[in-house]
Amino acid sequence: MRKHNFGAGPGILPESALQKSAAAALDFNNIGMSILEISHRSKDFDAVMIQTKSLVKELLGVPDHYSILFLQGGASTQFAMVPMNLLHKKAAYVDSGVWANKALKEARLFGEVDVIASSKDKNYSYVPKGYQIPGDCDYLHITSNNTIYGTQMKNFPESPVPVVCDMSSDIFSRPVDVSKFDLIYAGAQKNMGPAGVTLVIIKNDILKEVQRVVPTMLRYQTHIDGDSLYNTPPVFSIFVCMATLEWLKSIGGVSAIEKINQAKADLFYGEVDSNPLFTGTCEKEDRSNMNACFLLKNPELDEEFMKVTKAAGIIGIKGHRSVGGFRASMYNALPIESVKVLTQVMKEFALKTA
Ligand SMILES: *Cc1c(COP(=O)(O)O)cnc(C)c1O
Repeated sequence: MRKHNFGAGPGILPESALQKSAAAALDFNNIGMSILEISHRSKDFDAVMIQTKSLVKELLGVPDHYSILFLQGGASTQFAMVPMNLLHKKAAYVDSGVWANKALKEARLFGEVDVIASSKDKNYSYVPKGYQIPGDCDYLHITSNNTIYGTQMKNFPESPVPVVCDMSSDIFSRPVDVSKFDLIYAGAQKNMGPAGVTLVIIKNDILKEVQRVVPTMLRYQTHIDGDSLYNTPPVFSIFVCMATLEWLKSIGGVSAIEKINQAKADLFYGEVDSNPLFTGTCEKEDRSNMNACFLLKNPELDEEFMKVTKAAGIIGIKGHRSVGGFRASMYNALPIESVKVLTQVMKEFALKTA
């Protein structure tokens, strides 16, 4: 029996993708070798690269003048790569959560950082809005989904400067207009595949000569020129992403999954708001459809609640160590049935505890 996996990351993957990956790990395309053993320059892997890239392009509607890269080092390496390659003098950052904050701290190593808005004053429980974006910045950096505190940008700002967005925890969860962004990055392990690969979607013409020395592996141009094969890419992680995106396409793509994700979020937050024992932690209009943070009004019940959820096969709902409480991550691959199980447990818990 599969668990009801509400883990925040690495997150749940579709069963069909796990099965395809398991089969490929044993014998890939009946070639008598595992996907783990073949050359990244073989024609069998070449087909995987082409298919994964084309799925990213199709599912997100990536325009032709963008490159799609599969890199390593996680989203955290992008925190540095972005300013290394794009920060000439000054960049604007929106401080909307833990990850956004880490990104801006990293950028400070490379130049001037203008923190144009922050929700730190209220423990990152809302998404900053209505800020001015200075026209003299090299770029604006935003984080579409605040994985740890559970808020999500429902609208993206109109920006006079190039927009860089960390979409690690909600990429492929809803349609986005890629042409509004100059660079999108995402660690795969939340909503796209397993850990070990980082997706970068970059507009080809934003890279200009920078003054600083940038190591070869940390230059976007290296990977654009090398078609993500400058060095050995994370072959297996890319394969699992491909299988995950094939599943997404098979169920109707991002507009179909957006509806399912909305139904899951409505069901879950509906329970949080109507159940006398629980409360949400974020501004309602900014609540994330991916990561729902919630609390028991009486924290003395926390341990008992963990026990009953565990007994129902629910895992991964303990809140991030920096926030406490609970967090239900409802990534694409989490079936609505799992959310029904969780809300049912919450209902029964309230009846029993009343
Ligand atoms: C998880 C996460 C990160 C960090 O990702 P790594 O791949 O572990 O470096 C960065 N940003 C966001 C929004 C995340 O959810």
